[in-house]
Amino acid sequence: MIPLRVAIDPFPISVPLVIRLQNDGPSEEGTAGVIHRGQGFVEYDVCGLSLTVRTPDPDALDGDVVLILPGQRSLHRLIRNGSPHNTFLVTEQCDQKCVMCSQPPKAHHVDLFDPFYEAALLGPYGTTIGISGGEPMLHKERLFDFLLRVQERRPDIEFHILTNGQHFDKNDEPILQRLDRARILWGIPCYSASPETHDDIVVKAGAFETLERNLALLGKNGHRIELRTVILNANVNGLADLSLYVTTHHPHISFWAIMQLEPIGYGRQNWGREFFDSSQNFDPIAAGVDIANIRGLETVLYNFPLCTVPEPYRRFCANSISDWKQKYLPTCSDCSAINRCTGFFEWYPEERGFSSVGAL
Ligand code: SF4
Repeated sequence: MIPLRVAIDPFPISVPLVIRLQNDGPSEEGTAGVIHRGQGFVEYDVCGLSLTVRTPDPDALDGDVVLILPGQRSLHRLIRNGSPHNTFLVTEQCDQKCVMCSQPPKAHHVDLFDPFYEAALLGPYGTTIGISGGEPMLHKERLFDFLLRVQERRPDIEFHILTNGQHFDKNDEPILQRLDRARILWGIPCYSASPETHDDIVVKAGAFETLERNLALLGKNGHRIELRTVILNANVNGLADLSLYVTTHHPHISFWAIMQLEPIGYGRQNWGREFFDSSQNFDPIAAGVDIANIRGLETVLYNFPLCTVPEPYRRFCANSISDWKQKYLPTCSDCSAINRCTGFFEWYPEERGFSSVGAL
């Protein structure tokens, strides 16, 4: 597992600090250059102050944009150099309680939009930044302001924003028109064509109705949407109906991500009840994919190990598990498909997972 936090020695700051770490060259504004390497640590020059980072592998941090919060004994790797999986967690608050949530909501909120803005400006050219929560749109004024400010200074940066789609309204249209629609992809979940089933899964009455309205609002304003559906025992048999519904009522959806369950957070708590072993029965997923395919909706399967998917459907699989939480099993070392396969979540419970996994 790739660490997203790395230990540091106490560092005297009173406000959040964002810097890019670099091995070579003198420190300049926004960067910290290496001044000394020792056994298990490296020292950087931060505006004349020494920052000691405890790591056996300093080279792994070269080019990373990191955040240090006052009083904390670790740094946060906000943008890892060369990684396509960088996400800013903008809040842990949420108004839903989805049964598969990997990041269960918390009541407390810390506003870090300003450090995130500084980090985005220091990111590599053309980087994609994920925006996640909790529910980022609970703080939509701050989020919209952040996006507009970044797009003004760094029009090369792309955003993939995960939202439950509950908090748009007609008053947002002027801002939606100002945002760079070519560089923003909204990732929005819809779990069923049945309002009751969707509302049960997200544990919010009326959520489906609001979602429908806001999918239409985003479409009307020309925004790109990735529809996201985690398969569960609660919804898998309705996947064909959902496919029909989406392609009929929301033809502006850019593509559909059908996802296997992540065994963490509420997903771990509810694993026994909700994990659907698609290595044993792929038929309901195939039915959904087939309908979407015939009707021209591009479909991608996230978090499905290749050997758990029938051969004709492997072409829909993406290598989707973020690098920092991805693992492979011992059997994978003999597999010819390992470079194309998404593998497993670090916290995947093998003894309660797919019943059929094996090298291709
Ligand atoms: S054996 Fe491992 S690497 Fe090969 S397809 Fe299955 S999960 Fe992927």
